[in-house]
Amino acid sequence: MAKAIGPKCRMCRRAGTKLFLKGDRCFTTKCEIVKRNYPPGVHGAKVAKPRLTPFGIQLKEKQKARIFYRISEKQLQGYYVKAGRKKGNTADIMLQLLEMRLDNAVYRLGWARSHDEARQFVSHGFVYVNGKKVTIPSYQVRVGEVLTLKPGSQDRQPFQTLLSRLEKHTLPAWLYGEHGKFETKIAATPKPEDTQTVFDMRLIIEFYSR
Ligand code: SF4
Repeated sequence: MAKAIGPKCRMCRRAGTKLFLKGDRCFTTKCEIVKRNYPPGVHGAKVAKPRLTPFGIQLKEKQKARIFYRISEKQLQGYYVKAGRKKGNTADIMLQLLEMRLDNAVYRLGWARSHDEARQFVSHGFVYVNGKKVTIPSYQVRVGEVLTLKPGSQDRQPFQTLLSRLEKHTLPAWLYGEHGKFETKIAATPKPEDTQTVFDMRLIIEFYSR
């Protein structure tokens, strides 16, 4: 299955939680989850919430992660396989692999307002890793690497307002950057407690290990 496309707010309503797909709008009262927190469709408000089986709950969590990171089913499954091959807690490693995607790092940095925007910045060559352009959104960043914005792009749309936006943004513990600079170092590997997620990774592991 390819990356989920279609009306984004409907995806959140189907998932029953905010998946932060629309940037700034997600933090306002215009958010559809704030306005209409029930499943989409004409009867969505009237139909009682279905009681999910354990499988249904796991499937729902998996879908949330896939839509949140804007990746395909195949990619998500690939991360599970990769995490399973490494030593340690599979759930924590899988989360680490997803968080250390270059497009996600750009999103967590606050340079992009959504994962879709972050992916676009990367694929359009606005993000440099250790001084070199990297245009692969799934590129895995490593501890010690430095992410910078393409020189000269601060004066271009949509980066003109970035500095003022970043004043309100809090960096997660695994990223280090100085205010006023479009330069960030990957300071550590992300830990589950440093990561704000909208899904339960433990249930996703249970889904894939059936
Ligand atoms: Fe729409 Fe964002 Fe709210 Fe989701 S979180 S319903 S994408 S505004």
